Amino acid sequence: MPELPEVETVRRVLQERYAGKVITAVALGKPTFYRAPPLAAIKILTGGSIASFKRRGKYLIVVIEGRGEVIFHLGMSGRITVGGESPHVRFQMWIGTEAVRFHDSRRFGRVGCPLPALGPEPMDPEFTSDYLWGILRKRTAPVKALIMDQKLVAGLGNIYATEALHAAGIRPGRAGKSLRRAEVDKLTETCRDILVRGVDAGGATLDDEAFLDPLGRPGRMQMGVMVYGRKTCGTCGGAVIGTRKSIGGRASAYCPSCQR
Ligand SMILES: [Zn+2]
Repeated sequence: MPELPEVETVRRVLQERYAGKVITAVALGKPTFYRAPPLAAIKILTGGSIASFKRRGKYLIVVIEGRGEVIFHLGMSGRITVGGESPHVRFQMWIGTEAVRFHDSRRFGRVGCPLPALGPEPMDPEFTSDYLWGILRKRTAPVKALIMDQKLVAGLGNIYATEALHAAGIRPGRAGKSLRRAEVDKLTETCRDILVRGVDAGGATLDDEAFLDPLGRPGRMQMGVMVYGRKTCGTCGGAVIGTRKSIGGRASAYCPSCQR
């Protein structure tokens, strides 16, 4: 699933290539069993001049001069490409001579959705150790589920939450309130650091979630991953366990030596 670094990577490519240009036409691809974009979104985009591409959490926002914004969510498997064919094109926009296409094989993505209430992003100044402590100290839910709850912290999904917890030495299944203050301080740092590294690396391209940017280029973050999708820990070389145990419906890996 595209997380903050992957969506930011998409945003940067689109911003550089299309800001200031006009969307000459839009078209629905194959809307079968797919929730089509609302008419209001199509009206904003069609013939609109692109002011900028913004991002909030995992949401990509197209800002149209004088008309408003249209929000894209890539969902589980959504991809945006410049040109590029697939059987799962749901929506396309022509910008100059190029077709920008939204593909979504698993159909959880959306074009023209509302922006939900989101917590601060780990790079925001509001995301402090006090903020995270305030969330975790009263909760019995697993810490991993809490930091992946977009209403509390925006941007982390399975890959980056797994890696942030590993870097902080905290097991994903621990109750939020079981963390000591020093552990929360460390986790605050690692959540931010892992996302900064992910953005710098242009996202993570893993076998199961094959992320590519709109120009078809893979990210490099997978090379810096220590436990996610690995059999052995990148730090200590020990066996990674818990890959089948699910937290919040997703597999959750950790290293029993590095994480307590
Ligand atoms: Zn380890």
